[in-house]
Amino acid sequence: MRAYRMAAALAVLAALLFSTGSGLPFAAAEAPYNRAYYESRGEVVWEVPGNEKLVALTFDDGPDPEDTPRILELLKRYGARATFFVMGKKAVQHPDIVRREALEGHEVANHTFSHLVLRRSVPSGRIREEIVATQEAVAAATGQAPQLFRPPEGVFDPHVLEVIKREGLQTIMWSWHQDTHDWSRPGVNRIVKTVLGHIRNGDIILMHDYVHGPTQTVDALARILPKLTDEGYRFVTVSELLNRSRLVDKNND
Ligand SMILES: [Zn+2]
Repeated sequence: MRAYRMAAALAVLAALLFSTGSGLPFAAAEAPYNRAYYESRGEVVWEVPGNEKLVALTFDDGPDPEDTPRILELLKRYGARATFFVMGKKAVQHPDIVRREALEGHEVANHTFSHLVLRRSVPSGRIREEIVATQEAVAAATGQAPQLFRPPEGVFDPHVLEVIKREGLQTIMWSWHQDTHDWSRPGVNRIVKTVLGHIRNGDIILMHDYVHGPTQTVDALARILPKLTDEGYRFVTVSELLNRSRLVDKNND
């Protein structure tokens, strides 16, 4: 035990010695793969801040034959556009709902075929299968393959991103202050409060059009849509949000 502690203490000391001073290669190798790293490279998007009052509602894990049509009805009532990160498996089962999403002006995006969490141990070939099968399912339903991808549970690493990029997809997460946790059914009030209490221009709001058990998302949305509309916000797809910001960047050049 004593020997182990001594070894551990030496390891800490060695780490301190090597990480100080001008040990640049060492520090570079240790560069953390954090949000700032991915954002600065444009590899992953969490939100798109800007001057316009635009927000992107996103719905994961559908299409669901009960919840998705109810959400589509609400969105239509408020002239709101949203982005649906669909599971390929469900898109195959309900192509009519996916088609309706696209026809009504929403964006259909890729959330893997079977909601596989893309941990480091998943081989590239398996990740690619999940992505390609979903691209094909959506294209079969809508005539157009998705451009955006959201990894299940938000889990990814550089290896996963390489595969996603090779398939020509942009990875989209969500604003950390707009994680409604609606999947855990925290109560309609809680979902509404999370969104309205933290709203900022360019937010990407995370919700689900499939949850395990009776949904609270629809009732929450019925309160969120009129309130934010009154406050002057417009609901756009994630791609529109990205394009608007690129346009602004260009104009400022
Ligand atoms: Zn999901």
